[in-house]
Amino acid sequence: MTYSEFNLIDEFLTDLTVGRDDVVLGIGDDCALLDVAKDRLLAVSMDTLVGGVHFFADADPESLGHKALAVGLSDLAAMGAAPAWATLALTLPDIDKPWLRCFTTGFGRLAARYGVQLIGGDTTRGPLSISVQVHGLVVPGSALRRDGAGVGDGIYVSGTLGDAGLVVRARRGDWLGDVAPLKDRLDRPEPRLTLGRALRGIASAAIDISDGLSSDLGHILRASGVGAAIDLSAIPQSPEVAAVGDWTLPLASGDDYELCFSVPPVRADALMKCLDHVDVEVTRIGEIAVTPGIRWCLPGGGLLDVGKGWEHFS
Ligand code: ADP
Ligand code: MG
Repeated sequence: MTYSEFNLIDEFLTDLTVGRDDVVLGIGDDCALLDVAKDRLLAVSMDTLVGGVHFFADADPESLGHKALAVGLSDLAAMGAAPAWATLALTLPDIDKPWLRCFTTGFGRLAARYGVQLIGGDTTRGPLSISVQVHGLVVPGSALRRDGAGVGDGIYVSGTLGDAGLVVRARRGDWLGDVAPLKDRLDRPEPRLTLGRALRGIASAAIDISDGLSSDLGHILRASGVGAAIDLSAIPQSPEVAAVGDWTLPLASGDDYELCFSVPPVRADALMKCLDHVDVEVTRIGEIAVTPGIRWCLPGGGLLDVGKGWEHFS
């Protein structure tokens, strides 16, 4: 008997994650059955990683399993939702058991840390591609959306920006400095779930930075009908990124999965308080303004002229 899709599901996926009380029926039937709490909204998001496009062909499978789930959990973090369930669509060129063992280990470890249950999916043969749908729960009215930023609100980001972009640059051979300390920033991003949940009732808008600050802050600004002034001297950078001295890294490279959010001045104190219990640094980088677009204010005065180079950034 050949090793089929069903063997694969049994061996690697059926018992991969913890059981949750709200899963009436998990992997194994035509559908999963989920008990969605009456007083919660379901937050749903899906992401696909394609080999050669979103990750290097020789990527370490354990990190890939982590990242495939992490990027979805980052979306839940940006909404202030509590993660609950995930589905996984796997397209595999062949059944490579050592690869699958590592991939599911990376996925399963991150799922365990946040109490996420894998409740179903689909497995097909073809060029390597991984789609993960995540489901989270959020109290009605408390979700962090993109459209609530108001003029005068402070703009904040978590962590440091540009790290993942610098690792990509190094792997392509376009940067020869040491990026070893930043490797996990690209390969194993940490979804900012604790921060996202702490920001409920405090942030007026939020987004996760998957495509770069310029692009993702731009989404908040357009959704909210406002602009922004950013103080470039305040942009948090790792020593490695700061040493490159190229604004395109912290402003326009993707894959950092930090949160960018706005907070009205009246809630600035509440923000500081709620950060006591959060596992990542948060930095105020600017303010929401009336004029549309982003003004990038240089440390010595004047504005950064992004001109036509901006397209190339994204
Ligand atoms: P069907 O043919 O009825 O769609 P499948 O044979 O595709 O069912 O899948 C059998 C069971 O295994 C289903 O519960 C499905 O959700 C689950 N499953 C299939 N592939 C995956 C996967 N990659 N990850 C998690 N669960 C999976
Ligand atoms: Mg199916």
